[in-house]
Amino acid sequence: MKVLSRLKAKLHWHHLVHGGIFLMAIVLFPILGEYEVFESFYVFSRAHEDWELDELALLVVLFTVALLFSVVFQARHLRRMAQEREAMRKSAAANARHDPLTGVLNRRAFKTVAGELARSQISDDAPRYIALMDLDKFNPVNSLHGHEVGDATLQEVAERLKLEAGTGGTVARLGGDEFAVLLSAKVNGVQAERAAQRLVHEIAQPFNFGDSAVFIGASVGLVALRHGDDISEVMRRADKAMGVAKTQGRGRFTWYDADLDRQAMDREAIAADLRDAIAHEQVVPWFQPIVELGDNRVSGVEILARWIHSERGSIPPGVFIEIAEDSGQIGTLGLSVLRQACVAAKDWARPLTLSFNVSGVQFRDPNLVPSIRMVLEGTGFPPERLIVEVTESSVIDDFGVARAKLEELKSIGVAIALDDFGTGYSSLAALQNLPFDRLKIDRSFVTDISNNLECQKIVAGIVSLAQGLHLEVTAEGIETVEDLAYVSYLQCHRAQGFLFEKAVPAAQVGDFLDGKWERLPTVPVALAKVVGT
Ligand code: C2E
Ligand code: CA
Ligand code: CA
Repeated sequence: MKVLSRLKAKLHWHHLVHGGIFLMAIVLFPILGEYEVFESFYVFSRAHEDWELDELALLVVLFTVALLFSVVFQARHLRRMAQEREAMRKSAAANARHDPLTGVLNRRAFKTVAGELARSQISDDAPRYIALMDLDKFNPVNSLHGHEVGDATLQEVAERLKLEAGTGGTVARLGGDEFAVLLSAKVNGVQAERAAQRLVHEIAQPFNFGDSAVFIGASVGLVALRHGDDISEVMRRADKAMGVAKTQGRGRFTWYDADLDRQAMDREAIAADLRDAIAHEQVVPWFQPIVELGDNRVSGVEILARWIHSERGSIPPGVFIEIAEDSGQIGTLGLSVLRQACVAAKDWARPLTLSFNVSGVQFRDPNLVPSIRMVLEGTGFPPERLIVEVTESSVIDDFGVARAKLEELKSIGVAIALDDFGTGYSSLAALQNLPFDRLKIDRSFVTDISNNLECQKIVAGIVSLAQGLHLEVTAEGIETVEDLAYVSYLQCHRAQGFLFEKAVPAAQVGDFLDGKWERLPTVPVALAKVVGT
């Protein structure tokens, strides 16, 4: 019936005209026959043979037959079109519910199904459970093995999830490399945990395609879906839990915990307190000595920001620097700390250099260079004693932009150090293309170097690279005399670490100015020590 009504809607005037003529022909022929019109016509045509009227009649008949065919053909064509349209509509409706690549439900359909459950079918005492899964290490699959293998991997992931979900479970691909499993109604909390564990385990098994094996993993956030829950909120919680699983080292599952939201609120509260603390100069510079290898004399200090919160106590810079970046305060924080450091440095008996950390967000701030210059002019601190430390990740995106910024910095007279080298991209191109003066080897390669062959090779490699590029090398994280001996042996220029001193407040900098480390082994002694062992 539907098809018919659709057909009617598609009928055009010319179809009606064709049909009309055809019907008229059918009705008219017998009528005309009844009234002996054909006989009269025959007589008439005999009488006027030169008019060729019988040919005319034949034409009319042929025309009518042609019309008949045309109408039949048109009708069949219309019916086919209507059928196709119907099929297309059905498959479009199916596609709107299913992910075209894997065939499992898509995000919208999953939310509809789960939302419907929460509204009507879940009882108060028996929640359902949702496992939200994000694949680990999936992005390199496309670049290493190609998109076809990437697609095949996603399809296989969906298959493994379907097996694990079983009957009564629902699998969905939420987009990209994110999946969700609504576990079966029979599963209780403990079983949900086991299921989540199995999901993680299943995805960690290799995916074999021909000769290539793909290894990925999965991080899973687990949440309960209760009667009356808002499905968007439940998905947000699952996402939060999944994020925690990722930061805890991937390849695991984590329950959603209301504490996670409290922590987020904490960050907001800390961001608000930070604003106050910066304004009242409660975020202060502490100073860690940087020592010249050769004579072990302090030649400079690195500024390390410290904040002792009135209620929470000391908050580590790893925490508040990130909060400052996220809340747009890193610029003011850095300048406040730099200004205080420049003022303090005036009282020191020796002209130490100041090393100032600039984070990625800070580096991109167009006001960075003008405001550093203002601090230098305002405090009278000589620019040639300031070293700006940037990390590789700040400069790696666009060497052109980075170079312009670094040249701008150098134009006001400060030196540039590349910080934490070895942890990021360790890009030779970055070293060659950008105007660095110093290179700081990350402490993860330095601490305990004398016992780690791998680290020895890496540091030796970095030092010889730096020599070729005329960069001076600082080794961070010197904790023992052995560490010091080894980096001296490898001909680093400078060293920094707890062996000498942790960061101290401005007032205590005077204590290490008088060179108490001259008693530590210097280069010849260190050399003998390393070569001798
Ligand atoms: P960083 O620039 O790599 O700073 C060196 C970090 O290593 C400092 O941690 C320092 O206390 C620590 N360290 C120094 N010697 C040793 C050692 O021998 N062994 C060990 N295990 N650690 C050592 P801190 O003060 O916690 O700073 C952490 C990071 O926070 C810094 O890493 C830096 O990236 C950032 N940061 C600190 N102050 C500022 C600042 O004023 N501005 C910006 N943008 N970032 C800052
Ligand atoms: Ca640094
Ligand atoms: Ca560093």
